[in-house]
Amino acid sequence: MVEEALLQVKHLKKYYEIPQGLFKKDIIVRAVDDVSFTVNRGETFALVGESGCGKSTTGKTILRLTDPTEGQVIFNGTDVAGLEYNEMRSLRKQLQMVFQDPYASLNPKKTIKQILMEPLRVHNQFDEKDRLQKIKDMLEIVGLSKDYLDRYPHEFSGGQRQRIGIARAVILQPDFIVADEPVSALDVSVQSQVINLMLDLQKEFGLTYLFISHDLSVIEHMTDRVAVMYLGKIVEVADTETLFKDPKHPYTQALISAVPISHPAENKERVILKGDVPSPANPPSGCAFHTRCPFAMDICRQVAPETKTFSDGHTASCHLYTKSEEEQKYVTSDSK
Ligand code: SF4
Repeated sequence: MVEEALLQVKHLKKYYEIPQGLFKKDIIVRAVDDVSFTVNRGETFALVGESGCGKSTTGKTILRLTDPTEGQVIFNGTDVAGLEYNEMRSLRKQLQMVFQDPYASLNPKKTIKQILMEPLRVHNQFDEKDRLQKIKDMLEIVGLSKDYLDRYPHEFSGGQRQRIGIARAVILQPDFIVADEPVSALDVSVQSQVINLMLDLQKEFGLTYLFISHDLSVIEHMTDRVAVMYLGKIVEVADTETLFKDPKHPYTQALISAVPISHPAENKERVILKGDVPSPANPPSGCAFHTRCPFAMDICRQVAPETKTFSDGHTASCHLYTKSEEEQKYVTSDSK
């Protein structure tokens, strides 16, 4: 199958300025710092990393829920980052979002019918009678009864509320959905039901997902390719199977080693990361991961690593793969 790029993110930056008052320099928080990746039509592309790594801000910036500081977001040939408000509004029908907290993202004062009717009205889809039929069909597709139409969000369980959130995103039949931690607020027992629903909808409607999560076991189950983010930058990209079998970047290796084992007989060496994620307002010099990396070398503290592309298309930004053996022998004693 020929892969067709639906979304291209090029050198995307999102910086926030925090004013410090008169006579003091504003602090710049680099939430997303020069991020580039491509999502192919029909695939599920994951962004993974610890909280605060910039993955949610990347998703929101792609959808223009917040404006980018720099860079391009090319969706189906159109640069979303450069669109005026009205142009963006008409494109929004094709770009939707599923939020983490299904309760906070549904208006508690509106019935399910009103919640699902709103996007159809805003985008002028169908006449009133057909809209109602469309809503009933959509509820059935996401596994809810049409008898629930006049109920309010608080009358549903967390899993049911997320089904409503998914129905609201899919009802306009978009091409692309950003799903921001869509199952992390749900009980483990309902997580797999919601994931399976999303996979079924992907097949039925030909959806493309950008799936944002900190949970690698969910990522392993439902995504095709993965980008690993650390402090606003992408440090590794690979197809999901390759990433889990052969993680290259020390940060990815640590994340994967922390995934719970599925059987007690499984033997896995854990990599425990030192310290907390540094502040994106004051990122470490060189490789931003050097303060926690068990393999940090002198060069890592001074020079940001380039991205190495391996023969299978797998990429990693780490001096372990880009520097000569001569340079690598300067491994510091604390890394041994
Ligand atoms: Fe670790 Fe250096 Fe690679 Fe960064 S560049 S991940 S500090 S080895």
